[in-house]
Parts: sequence; structure tokens; C-alpha cells
Amino acid sequence: MKQFQGTAASGGICIAPCFRQQQAPAPARQQLSPGEELSHFEGARKAALAELLALREEGTTREAREIFATHAMMLTDEDFLDTVRRIITLQQHSATSAVKAAVGEFSSMFEEMDSAYMRERAADVREIGTRLLRLLSGQVAAQPHTRCILCAAELSAADTASFDPAIVCGFATEDGTAASHAAILARAKGIPAVVGLGEALRTVDASTLLILDGSSGIVIADPDTATLCRYEAALKKQTQRNEQLHRLAAEESRTADGHKVIIAANIGTPDEVESALKNGAEGVGLMRSEFLFLSSPTPPTEEMQFEAYKSVLTEMHGQRVVIRTLDIGADKQAPCLPLPAEPNPALGCRAIRVSLARRDLFAAQIRALLRAAKFGHLAVMFPLIISLAEVREIKRFVALQKTALTAGGYEVGSFEFGIMIETPAAALISDSLAQEVDFFSIGTNDLTQYTLAADRTNPAVAALCDPHHPAVLGLISVAAESARRYGKPVAVCGEAAADPALAEAFLRMGITELSVSPAAVLPLREAVRSFHLD
Ligand code: PEP
Ligand code: MG
Repeated sequence: MKQFQGTAASGGICIAPCFRQQQAPAPARQQLSPGEELSHFEGARKAALAELLALREEGTTREAREIFATHAMMLTDEDFLDTVRRIITLQQHSATSAVKAAVGEFSSMFEEMDSAYMRERAADVREIGTRLLRLLSGQVAAQPHTRCILCAAELSAADTASFDPAIVCGFATEDGTAASHAAILARAKGIPAVVGLGEALRTVDASTLLILDGSSGIVIADPDTATLCRYEAALKKQTQRNEQLHRLAAEESRTADGHKVIIAANIGTPDEVESALKNGAEGVGLMRSEFLFLSSPTPPTEEMQFEAYKSVLTEMHGQRVVIRTLDIGADKQAPCLPLPAEPNPALGCRAIRVSLARRDLFAAQIRALLRAAKFGHLAVMFPLIISLAEVREIKRFVALQKTALTAGGYEVGSFEFGIMIETPAAALISDSLAQEVDFFSIGTNDLTQYTLAADRTNPAVAALCDPHHPAVLGLISVAAESARRYGKPVAVCGEAAADPALAEAFLRMGITELSVSPAAVLPLREAVRSFHLD
């Protein structure tokens, strides 16, 4: 038996065999003769084709099946294949650099075309390139098929978004922090997780029985009988506690001294609505729309987004749904929308900056939201705002899209217009911002990282990234006061809202809505019911 201590990232206990995800990239390979490089490329091409045909068969939606069929077709395109082969034979490059060069050439060619449809094909070419490069490096697509605890060096938000909780019942990583998006997503999906376990985790072999306690950050490999019995008993208690909490699902969120509080849910994709409703959420306080992009091979079209937003609004039956526009960049890299490498991505082109730079993507999202708005109570908010100019620019853009849709004969609805307060700049100019918008939602995860200059994804500064810091609470209080001054509602949708002590402090500041992961709704309701605010 071995015990490891890491950082608690998503609460709950699970017991299952270890599944190992690729630990490190395969070592660099010696370049071979052109003939051998050609056959290496041919092997990878056939393997990629086989993967794509299997994915096409497994595809659950028509769009997914079409995408994989298109990718498979591109792998038989003679122009593309000839380019790779020519670079290998004439320029004596390795198969890997020939694929990189050919992908660069073809994706630039598509990007320069007039038709928007053809320009979108550039992303397909890059996706195929990524698949070929992975196979050329000897890595296999490591996807578990039976119930397991997944162990990996690090997981991206895109990896976590693709997990099925019925298969991946927990995960443990060498790196990572509790504030990273992979951890946030684990909490949203109710998957227990421990991160920051260090290299010691590498000593755990695949298939070893593991106990993972996501509340204490403990992982135990190959437990002895007494330990196993102890955790099985704890698991039973956890089930009983969940049953007890579920009695609160139909209750209101009201403090002991009678103040009404709204406890809504944070979700990533439409299939998480079920869990939000099961946990008695009073609306969706944050739908991170970027999760529609993270696990998709190509950026979701206007139509796909419209269907996704409409389904969330319809299933929420008139309860308020706050959808946040695309927030990619930093630790949320969408493979379908590669962003240029930046020295400081958290301070670079992310969130609203990407939307304002890529008006094509922004237009598709706003159009989808305006069309979906008439299917429920929609509020839309914009991430990482730092200025009044941005807000006014967004408003103009939304109005323009509305006019274009109406002129095109589409039926559109309207939505409440809100912003996230997640930079010190936004909190400090919140008086002006409050006059321009319908509501604020405070993103404590980013507000904490930007106020305290502590990267939320860096384990070395995880202890500094603390939302209890008086500077963070001071900024929240400034924003809450500005909103109150103009009669605008203000919510907290960052992870700090799930901390009962902080939640009580936020309610005392005049915040009336807390939005947390679905699994945290009922524990928070229980805590709120014991608060005395007066
Ligand atoms: C936040 O920053 O608090 C927030 C809710 O947004 P995200 O965690 O997705 O960056
Ligand atoms: Mg944020």
C-alpha cells in the first residue's frame, strides 16, 4: 500500500483501478532514410484513417459524423499526400517535419480563400495534422473504456470536458491546481479529483486499485484490507449524506433571518442541465460557452450553438440562464481554434479580446444567442472586461447583429446584457460600468489571480491565490456597492461562492445570487439556511 498527498481539487471519494494516460511525449526519433520516412508516414496515415472511420461510426450527432468523414476524406487527398511525399523525398525531411510543412502550406491556402466555408477548412487541415503528428510520435489515443481513476501528468480543460463520469470516476494528476479549469470542470461534472501529486504518482502502475479522496487530497494505491473497509464505509456515508442533502432540492434558498438568496448552477455544456436541476439549482448563473468549443474538432457553427443554447433555455423552463460568451486562451486552449503562442497567455489575447479580434466567431455566437433568446429567460455576459469602451463596442456589435438577423427574416429575442467583474480594473471603474449594463457577475477566480499577481494554474503560487485576501474582498465590495447604487443585480459565479464563510461575506455586501457547480448547490443551500445577515 502507498499513500500520496496532493491538492484537493474536487470533493468525493472513489475506488477504482488506475488508468494511465500517456506520461510524457515519446522521445525524439532519429531521422531515417527517405524510403523509411515514407513508410513511417504511410503507417501513420493508415492509423489516422482507421481512427477517423471508427470515430465516424461512433459519432452521436450528424455534425460529428460529417466532420470525421471530411477528415478521413482529406487523408486520401492526393494533393496533400503528394506534398508530404515530395518534401520527404526531394527535401529529405523527416515525416514529422514534412507533415508540419504540408499542413502549414494547405491551411494558409484555405485561410486566404474568399469563401467563409473554405476558410473554415483550414482548421480541419490543422486537426488532421495534429492527429498525424501524434501517431508519428508513436502515441496511441489513450481513452479508457471501463470504470477507472485516470492518472496523468496534467490534464487540460479539453481533456476533462471529454470525460464521461460513468467511465472516469476520478482523476489524479502530477501537476495542476484547484483553480485551473480542469479542476473546475471536474467539480462541475461531480468527478472527484486530486491534483499536484508530483512525480511520485508515476510509481503507480496501470490497473492498480486506487482510492481517491478528492476532499482531503489523498490517493492510496493498492490499499490493505483495513484501509479499503474504512473508505468503503466513508463512501457509504457520502451516499447517505447526499441523500439527506437532496431533501433540500425542492426548498428555497433563504437565510435563517429571512433574506432570499438565489443559488444557481455553473455549467459547461447542455448535458449538465440535468445535474443542475437534480441539485435544485435556481437557474444557471454561468454557462461557460467555451466548453462547446474545447472538445469539438471544428468551431461549432452558429446553428450548432443556437441548438445548444436553445436546449439549455428550454430545459430550464423559464428560469434565468446566464450564458457567458467565448472565454478561451490561457489554460483554456481549444484545439479547434489554435491561438498564437504568447509569453504571458493569462495577460494576453484571451476571453473578450479574442471575440473582439475574431468578429466572425463573435458574430456567430451573438447571432445564435439572439435567436435562442426567445426560448426562455436569457442573460448574456462578457468576460475579462477592463474598460467602458469595450462595453460600448460590444453593445454596438450586438445591436448590429440584431438588425442583420431581423433584416434576414430571423425571429430574434432579447437578452439582459451583463459583464463579468474579474479584473481589478473593472471593479475600480464599476460605477461607470454599472450605468451601462443590466447586471454584474463577479468572477472571483480571475479577480483573485489578477489582484494578487498569482497565476491560478501554477502550483508554486497556489497558496497566494487566495480569495480571502482583503484586497480581493475590497474590490468585490466596491463592485457590489456600485451595482447597488444603480439598482443592478450582482452575482458571484467564481469558485469562492461555494465557500460558506465567503458566501456569507458576499451576501452581507449586498450580493443576492451565488452560482456554483451543480454538486455544490445543496451544501451551499444548507449553509445559507443557517446564516443570520441582520
Ligand atoms: C472566474 O474567473 O471566476 C470565472 C467564473 O470564470 P472562469 O473560471 O471560467 O475563468
Ligand atoms: Mg474568469
